[in-house]
Amino acid sequence: MRGFVTCGCCDTPLRSCYSTSNSGKRYAYYLCQTKDCDAYASSLPISAEQ
Ligand SMILES: [Zn+2]
Repeated sequence: MRGFVTCGCCDTPLRSCYSTSNSGKRYAYYLCQTKDCDAYASSLPISAEQ
């Protein structure tokens, strides 16, 4: 099990978040917190399902 996932743009550890879709399904996504990164504040979906 990986401890963390790094951003594909800036290579820093991403923050994992959880949200609930309209259908009630809970899903996880990652957020990059590097302000200079192209992916900053955009959610990166986690494709792997549990
Ligand atoms: Zn980034």
